[in-house]
Amino acid sequence: MHMHQLTFIGPREFEWREVPAPKISDARQALVRPLAVSRCDLDLAIFRGNTPTQQQFAIGHEFTAEVVEIGDAVSTVKPGDRVVVSFQISCGECRMCKMGLTRSCESVPRLSTFGLPGNEIEYGGGFSERVLVPYADHMLFPIPNGASPIALAPASDNLPDGFRLVAPGLARWPGADVLVLGGSGAGSCGLYAVATAKALGAGKVDYVDTKPDRLAIAERLGANVIEQRIDEQTAPLGPYLITVDAQIKEASFYVAMMSTAPEGFCTTVGGYFGPTDMRPPWMGNYFNCITVRNEMVNAAHELKTVMPLIGKEVLKVTDVVSDVFPALEAQERLLDSVKPVFVLDDALLAQHREGSS
Ligand SMILES: [Zn+2]
Ligand SMILES: [Zn+2]
Repeated sequence: MHMHQLTFIGPREFEWREVPAPKISDARQALVRPLAVSRCDLDLAIFRGNTPTQQQFAIGHEFTAEVVEIGDAVSTVKPGDRVVVSFQISCGECRMCKMGLTRSCESVPRLSTFGLPGNEIEYGGGFSERVLVPYADHMLFPIPNGASPIALAPASDNLPDGFRLVAPGLARWPGADVLVLGGSGAGSCGLYAVATAKALGAGKVDYVDTKPDRLAIAERLGANVIEQRIDEQTAPLGPYLITVDAQIKEASFYVAMMSTAPEGFCTTVGGYFGPTDMRPPWMGNYFNCITVRNEMVNAAHELKTVMPLIGKEVLKVTDVVSDVFPALEAQERLLDSVKPVFVLDDALLAQHREGSS
């Protein structure tokens, strides 16, 4: 059997290619049919040509899916179940996975993910009829009753990424004030950080950005929004015990660190590609005892906490999705909008259109 798969050819260039459909070859695998795919914040940088990527690869690493077939050892999902799929491949059984460090799983080569040019292995992407999921019991999370596979497409990656930007700080400092510097670098991660901060009982949640679309979403999520450009001239804000740099610029990271209160947490979402002449305020960070983080998310690990919060409707994320398109429009619309979701399942798209019209 063959299937169609949307492939990144080069900056702003995508192609639907015919490729062999994957088959189950291990008892722990599941075969899934993608329902909805969202554009990850990192995708935007890759698609615009702002990363060193030279590879062609199947795109789409944030997606929800329906389970089609399971291997003999799979016990937590069954055919017909609708699931969130962790974008990072991890086994759940190795030393790293057991410590919650699923991003560094020892059972697969580093940077093993769906829909990204991380290493030489092609795991496939969400813009296709079938995706083979290794370690299905560990990597698939049933969608709670009533939750939308469209709103939860980003749960593969950017949603738990936004969660981990603020959750550790709020665990240490319950009720703390939070500052999120939003921007196109990690547009949706910043918004998911806002949603998480509200869900976990933060004090004041200030969201700074210049783009009206993102400011409007942040406001709907309950943030106090501040329209302000962050650059080299910006004076420190706050201080706040928890700061987030979702702009991924040297200036915004610097301002976030300088805006962090003593004993606070400053986390940058990103991915600084290429050389940088950034000079972090090491001495201030040291004397203020600030924890500064620049690391990837542990998607599967965070999802163990995130999915129950979504199920209980404590964590509300529907407002982050900015546009919903049919998957066949992806080639033209992949660079549009704050957080677009592309739907592969016709019934799901029709249902969505009825609900929102
Ligand atoms: Zn991503
Ligand atoms: Zn592992």
